[in-house]
Amino acid sequence: KASVMDGVKFDYEKEVALEKSRAKRSALDAIREERKKLPVYAVRDKFLQAVHDHQVLVIVGETGSGKTTQIPQYLHEAGYTKHGKMIACTQPRRVAAMSVAARVSQEMGVKLGHEVGYSIRFEDCTSKKTIVKYMTDGMLLREFLAQPELDSYSVVMVDEAHERTLSTDILFGLLKDVARARPDLKLLISSATLDAEKFINFFDHAQKFEIPGRPYPVEIHFTEKAEANYFDAAIVTTLQIHTTQPPGDILLFLTGQEEIETAEEHLKLRVGALGTKIAELIICPIYANLPTEIQAKIFEPTPKGARKVVLATNIAETSLTIDGIKYVIDPGFCKMKSYNPRTGMESLLVTPISKASAMQRAGRSGRTGPGKCFRLYTSYSFQNDMEDNTTPEIQRTNLANVVLTLISLGIEIEKLFQFEFMDPPPLDALKNAVELLCNLGALNGHVKLTKVGRRMAEFPLDPMLSKMIIASEKYKCSDEIISIAAMLSVGGSIFYSPKNKKVHADNARMNFHTGNVGDHIAHLNVYNSWKESNYSRQWCYENYIQVRSMKRAKDIRDQLVGLLERIEIELTSNSNDLDAIKKSITSGFFPNTAKLQKYGTYQMVKRLQTGHIHPSSGLAEVFPRLVLYHELVLTTKEYLRQVTEIKPEWLLEIAPNFYNPKDVEDLSSKKMPRGSGLAGKSAGAGTS
Ligand code: ADP
Ligand code: MG
Repeated sequence: KASVMDGVKFDYEKEVALEKSRAKRSALDAIREERKKLPVYAVRDKFLQAVHDHQVLVIVGETGSGKTTQIPQYLHEAGYTKHGKMIACTQPRRVAAMSVAARVSQEMGVKLGHEVGYSIRFEDCTSKKTIVKYMTDGMLLREFLAQPELDSYSVVMVDEAHERTLSTDILFGLLKDVARARPDLKLLISSATLDAEKFINFFDHAQKFEIPGRPYPVEIHFTEKAEANYFDAAIVTTLQIHTTQPPGDILLFLTGQEEIETAEEHLKLRVGALGTKIAELIICPIYANLPTEIQAKIFEPTPKGARKVVLATNIAETSLTIDGIKYVIDPGFCKMKSYNPRTGMESLLVTPISKASAMQRAGRSGRTGPGKCFRLYTSYSFQNDMEDNTTPEIQRTNLANVVLTLISLGIEIEKLFQFEFMDPPPLDALKNAVELLCNLGALNGHVKLTKVGRRMAEFPLDPMLSKMIIASEKYKCSDEIISIAAMLSVGGSIFYSPKNKKVHADNARMNFHTGNVGDHIAHLNVYNSWKESNYSRQWCYENYIQVRSMKRAKDIRDQLVGLLERIEIELTSNSNDLDAIKKSITSGFFPNTAKLQKYGTYQMVKRLQTGHIHPSSGLAEVFPRLVLYHELVLTTKEYLRQVTEIKPEWLLEIAPNFYNPKDVEDLSSKKMPRGSGLAGKSAGAGTS
């Protein structure tokens, strides 16, 4: 029978492919339209002209105006990636680099990691094809080690310059030099604040470029009285907005991962208790260690009838723009590093934010329409207790890592003290850094880089961790040491402890501490057991271990294996000799030791400072007489975190120039210090 279809070939696969490309094209069209609505689009040509005319531009524009996502694309379209050169755009935060790269690859219709990629510590998502590269400022700093004039780049954009991270500040100094040496290199400094004069004055012949665009008005509410507990107040305010205010998403600023997770838990419970009459509340956390799939969730449009609440760290202050936010809750705090150059103590403290930060936070609510900002502090407090601006990180941090990098770049010690800093660090902080590097053997008596120092600089780690790894060659335990280094570099917590299963979780955790081996070896035990389980997810659940932290540890470890190879240290295992492993750790961390005084108080051996073993440590109730700690943090008290018991004679053996017998003589006697009241308990846990 003849059919109308005769002679009509229907190529199903071809049709599907066509349909797919049509869908892709229309998605791209939609994105193209979106891009045209951004404030920066209105000045695209003017901007390209300015880049053409000037070597250094300081770009100022409100958050969300399109600086980060659009400018690199404009430059690419204008031909700055011809001749195989790349455009670099630095971000102070890992999450921002990843998220923005993902967005831009989508806008350009290419696969992430191909033309558009990102590079963050321990993760390189770029390829030979990459022409637009988002990266953390720290990674660009490390690239100077391989290419001092950044030859592979035609444009370097230092984004979020107002954040003034340590790496950004160092980059300023180095880039100023490179710009002089390479007239063809374009340098863009972009900032969300209007305070651009400082940047313009710092660079030679810099030109200001403003992106016009005014945000909507924001209604600001202060509390009448100071809140006793900002966290509780934040939860209550979120629920009040959700139940009484017109539609619009909420952005709540919290100080860190733990706080965000707790808030998520509380909100779920409280909303659940309110029953089904109220609208759905979609809770979206965002912080540095959140896996990428979940990060993307914050950008998904909120379904009709529901409300989204984004629980964010400072990252949402300027780095990430989330559309649809109408309400901002600002408790007025952030977690901030500080460093006392006199005592050498570094602390991570929940600190009041600056007025500038508070303004930025409020501004997040007025991007797409009028907004409201609820400040959980009084207007008096805003006026009188808050600093105008956040102190640049360079003035409140330990500089050992940066000094090692700069010296590796060939900057002589005299030059280092004359380095062009936008705001110089305290002289004592520089001196301490040099002294620590000398003690670690990275610098010799003439303050020149040693072989050890050169090898240490290969690692994107803190010098003490790098030194611990280098020392593992001598103690033949590099295999164990890099597992420990990886676990300590994960950034998030390894263990978790749900409230309703606290006892089980604590028991599971203590299993890894059998024999009071200390927290470092416990971390190793966790890693090795997980490995034995063939990296099993189930094993993690059963042992109350965070799957994603372990995955990250494995990634980091893989990279460290590669770096070991590069500096020709063999991977050797010495798992039965815990003392060898501990000595290797001591070789890096010997400056961080403390001895038991009384009532569980520890006195730093070389600093006028006391502290307590952190309750999460396996040794928290063991009270060893002499311990080494990974870090000293100041929260409610001074706490030693990641603690291992060491023997006094190791200090004299490993760091004879740092310790003298007097420092540890009271520890050699069998008797406990009088008045400790803990002798019985501690004797059982003594060195064996
Ligand atoms: P700026 O750098 O000036 O603050 P951006 O370029 O970051 O501005 O943002 C421009 C627009 O792109 C904003 O509307 C923002 O919401 C959107 N955007 C940025 N990143 C993403 C993402 N990962 N997913 C979806 N939209 C994004
Ligand atoms: Mg930006």
